[in-house]
Amino acid sequence: MDISRRNFLKGSALAAGSVAVSGKPAKASADSTELRTKGLEVTTTVCPYCAVGCGMVVHTKNGKVVNIEGDTEHPINEGSLCSKGSAMFQVANNERRLTKVKYRAPKSDTWEEKSWDWTMNRIAELMKETRDRNFVKEEKIKGERYTVNRNDGMAILGGAALDNEECYLLSKFARAMGVGYLEHQARI
Ligand code: SF4
Repeated sequence: MDISRRNFLKGSALAAGSVAVSGKPAKASADSTELRTKGLEVTTTVCPYCAVGCGMVVHTKNGKVVNIEGDTEHPINEGSLCSKGSAMFQVANNERRLTKVKYRAPKSDTWEEKSWDWTMNRIAELMKETRDRNFVKEEKIKGERYTVNRNDGMAILGGAALDNEECYLLSKFARAMGVGYLEHQARI
C-alpha cells in the first residue's frame, strides 16, 4: 500500500487514540516486545568500551548471543547505551573475532594456535624475567642509600570494565611486583 504523509499521520492519530481510550498500547506492539526475548537466557554484564561502565543485559539461546541491550536496572545508565555500546552485539557475533590464542614466536612469520595453559605460563614466565631483570633494590638519594624495591621494567594499566574489587586486586598485584607505573585507562 502506498503510504502518504497524510495517511501516516491519520494512522498515528488513530493508534494514539486507541491508547488514550483503552489506557494501554495497541495489542500488536505489546506482543512483539514481549516475544522478542521471550524464553531466552538472561545475564548481565558491563560494557568494556569506556570508563562510564554502562550495564548491559545479554540474551542467549543455546549458548549463542542473540541480543544485547542496556540494563534498565543499572544505576549508571538506566537502560541507555551510546552508539558504541549499542553495537556490542556485533562484537559478540563476528566471524572475525578471535576465539583461540594465536602466538607468533620472535622472528617467525607464522601464527600458531596455543592452549590457555601454555599462554598463561608463558606470560608468567616473561613477567618474572622482566621483573628480575629490571628490579631496583636500592637507590641513592642525596648521598643516602634507600631501599626502594622497585620494578622499572613494567607498567600496568587498568581497564574500564574492571569493577572495584578487580581494581583492588590489580593494584595489590602491581605493588607485589614492585610496579610503580600503575594507571587506569579512565584517567588517560
Ligand atoms: S555504552 Fe558507551 S558510554 Fe556506556 S560504557 Fe559503553 S562506550 Fe561507554
